[in-house]
Amino acid sequence: MSAVRPPVLIVGQGLAGTLLAWELERAGRAFEIVDPGHAAAASRVGAGLVNPVTGERWVAAPGWAEKSAFARATFRDLESAWGLPLVTDLRIRRRWRNLAEAELVRAKTERGELSPWLRPEGLSPDFAEIDGAWRVDLPALIAAGRRRWLSQGRLSEASVAPGDAAVAAWPGPVIWCVGAAETRLPELRPVGGETLELAVDPAAATRGTWRTDVVRHDGVWILPLGADRAWAGASFVREEAEREPRREALRASVRRQLADLSWREVAVLSGQRMTTPDRAPRSAWLPGREGREGVFNGLGSKGALLAPTLAREWAGRL
Ligand SMILES: Cc1cc2nc3c(=O)[nH]c(=O)nc-3n(C[C@H](O)[C@H](O)[C@H](O)COP(=O)(O)OP(=O)(O)OC[C@H]3O[C@@H](n4cnc5c(N)ncnc54)[C@H](O)[C@@H]3O)c2cc1C
Repeated sequence: MSAVRPPVLIVGQGLAGTLLAWELERAGRAFEIVDPGHAAAASRVGAGLVNPVTGERWVAAPGWAEKSAFARATFRDLESAWGLPLVTDLRIRRRWRNLAEAELVRAKTERGELSPWLRPEGLSPDFAEIDGAWRVDLPALIAAGRRRWLSQGRLSEASVAPGDAAVAAWPGPVIWCVGAAETRLPELRPVGGETLELAVDPAAATRGTWRTDVVRHDGVWILPLGADRAWAGASFVREEAEREPRREALRASVRRQLADLSWREVAVLSGQRMTTPDRAPRSAWLPGREGREGVFNGLGSKGALLAPTLAREWAGRL
């Protein structure tokens, strides 16, 4: 008979903590979560977009198709297990910034480098349409996880810090999924992000001007959230002084990109995503604390794509 394994303590229930808890729950492993609330969670304001072709050089990341398929299957499983919609298929309509960009992408497309996401018929004089993108509704996911584990008595609305007596006395592994509150790994750096919430005139969807499956993108993305709502974002800043100018640039882009619609700004949502110099997440035991304390963090702008694989790997190690 195998010995009963000690329970895992998950600190933080944003995207990382939620997916880890879900993997442990479906593996039948005992766990508890502590999180005071989502007021500061990046996952409360993150767009959750998964986009096959990104960056100024229009690059399809190696291994993207496999990672995307695994992440999507995980969120689809959650949709059926928890009975709520989470995943939406999208196309990205990305506007050329200049002629050189249009020529670069045309050449890549002709060589088939961006296939199957970008095909010659997806190119127009003003923009390219990228297929295969999708979005997971991060705020809905973490709110549903919270309700579930509160009702099961597995989530405590509290904060804990490394070195707290409760952590030191915990009988099993402790995994820190605290996003911007992590202070022990100096290479993890917060980058501020802004999202504008917009109310869109729903008549535009009826007329067909506003397509709810198309993200408009010119460096700033405008993500439809149904017929009458959208999020616009992308201005990431390291210093507070950059925040207001970036917000104004964001607004200018929204005015340009939504010139064909009637809309108004209803809220500004701010959050911090965690990045590393090599852009790779930090998902490992803390040095000297192997088997006792680990970190699941640094998801950067690719949380929706990467967190499902990393959560599965963590569950296998615990
Ligand atoms: C504006 C914006 C847009 C984004 N767009 C995208 C996108 O399009 N696609 C994409 O994939 N990613 C995007 N991201 C990034 C993505 O949202 C993040 O990578 C992801 O949400 C991070 O999840 P997390 O669980 O690591 O952190 P968080 O979501 O920040 O969760 C951390 C949790 O830990 C809790 N906590 C903190 N300290 C303690 C403590 N001491 N004790 C207990 N609990 C604690 C907090 O309450 C919080 O709930 C975006 C981020 C932002 C800000």
